[in-house]
Amino acid sequence: MTSRTAVVTGAARGIGAATARRLAADGHAVAVLDLNEADAQATAKAIGAAGGTALAVGADVADEAAVASAVERVAAELGPPQILVNNAGILRDNLLFKMTAGDWDAVMGVHLRGAFLMSRAVQAHMVEARWGRIVNLSSTSALGNRGQANYAAAKAGMQGLTKTLAIELGRFGITANAVAPGFIETEMTKATAERIGVPFEDFLAHAAKEAPVGRVGRPEDIAAAVAYFCSEDAGFVSGQVLYVAGGPKA
Ligand code: NAP
Repeated sequence: MTSRTAVVTGAARGIGAATARRLAADGHAVAVLDLNEADAQATAKAIGAAGGTALAVGADVADEAAVASAVERVAAELGPPQILVNNAGILRDNLLFKMTAGDWDAVMGVHLRGAFLMSRAVQAHMVEARWGRIVNLSSTSALGNRGQANYAAAKAGMQGLTKTLAIELGRFGITANAVAPGFIETEMTKATAERIGVPFEDFLAHAAKEAPVGRVGRPEDIAAAVAYFCSEDAGFVSGQVLYVAGGPKA
């Protein structure tokens, strides 16, 4: 397969880290982007130790200037990026009557503004190469979820963004798709268990029972779906949303 330069946001841990490791194992040079460069360094070092190529980059995806300089740095040090995985995310859950405007803005800022800024910055390199893959992380919460008005709206927004990127960029050999995970065991779901006061083990057991496949998801399950959309073989698949949730979702 052709080796490309990939950027994975929020790749210090969880789904992003697993995706960065997977794309590196598939032969790509990977920019491990996260808020804090030192945190991203752990993922980059693990990739290097496994024989891959990675660069740790610190940037807030919601910050326009930081995004521009991060993408410039990746292009200069790893090569022009042709794969982008918009994975960085945060939760600020609360019932609507208790949700602050700050909670709303923070979630929109990282997920939607972040994916917009990163996609806009990276597409220039993809258009020049006449080849590109953009994968956005949505969620089953896009279908609606109690306590997540901000997150559900952002994750539904990621789907609209994905379809529009697919329509605008298709003529340049660029595809855009979304992966919408169900319950995945990461720091994010651990934080949710803590917030609602349920031991994480009980929270995992309940989620496993709810899923038709009888288990919760692992970051590697999501990384595998992302890797498919990033592959050469997926060039005719664009504007799609793939629910990876251990059972049907619509
Ligand atoms: P996670 O463990 O919380 O990791 C998210 C990463 O994103 C963290 O390293 C975090 O850095 C980074 N990040 C946050 N804000 C950022 C910003 N402004 N700029 C750059 N990086 C930033 O989350 P996860 O569970 O792996 O989830 C990854 C993605 O999948 C998210 O988009 C999430 O919404 C989505 N998802 C997850 C699940 C699930 O069950 N886990 C389900 C559906 C969808 P810090 O540590 O410094 O904050």
